[in-house]
Amino acid sequence: MSTYLEAAETAHAALTRIDQAAGDGDFGDNLRGGLRGVVAALPADAGLTTEFTVAGTYFLDEVGGTSGPLIGLLLQNVAVSLGRDGETDAALVAGLEAGTAAIQRVGEAVVGDRTMVDTLAPTLDDLRTSGDPVDWAAIAGRALEHARATASLSPRMGRASYVGDRALGVPDAGAMGIALLFWALASRSS
Ligand code: ADP
Ligand code: MG
Ligand code: MG
Repeated sequence: MSTYLEAAETAHAALTRIDQAAGDGDFGDNLRGGLRGVVAALPADAGLTTEFTVAGTYFLDEVGGTSGPLIGLLLQNVAVSLGRDGETDAALVAGLEAGTAAIQRVGEAVVGDRTMVDTLAPTLDDLRTSGDPVDWAAIAGRALEHARATASLSPRMGRASYVGDRALGVPDAGAMGIALLFWALASRSS
């Protein structure tokens, strides 16, 4: 999570700007604030399961915006899967699958609505064909491509739907925030 925080710190201004262009401008604060809280709460020697457990609870309970609880669901589902099946790529991918399904159940977004689902769903498709062990660097690159592709989508969910086609040309903030999670997964030393 400290790597995810570093990415969110670096991207904060850009995330704020793109959520301003097609939303209310708080996504950068929500993601960075959430991850600052998570990293402050984590013991230094926390393993991957503990990291996702603490992060899931923190985002669900403490982080605002539409994205806070939705990202919380994603992180919590990964934690449950890692805790049940061990800290393997297969468990990580299964957790991301379950988390994405939970986000879609709660938020009701489908692919093409211009949300974080437009990074998650196609990156999961890539993961299904990526083999074991997963080439996380390649997956992170794919996630970023999927996130950037939201720039050509008209928003149909959330606050961004109010601005309609004025969002075109700028990627969705939540989609970019999820690409940073994949980047952080690729940057793990283990
Ligand atoms: P808010 O729009 O309430 O200010 P945030 O700025 O924290 O919330 O998060 C906005 C992001 O949330 C969007 O960029 C989009 O990716 C994501 N989002 C919005 N609505 C949904 C939804 N129904 N399902 C999935 N993701 C969504
Ligand atoms: Mg916002
Ligand atoms: Mg808001």
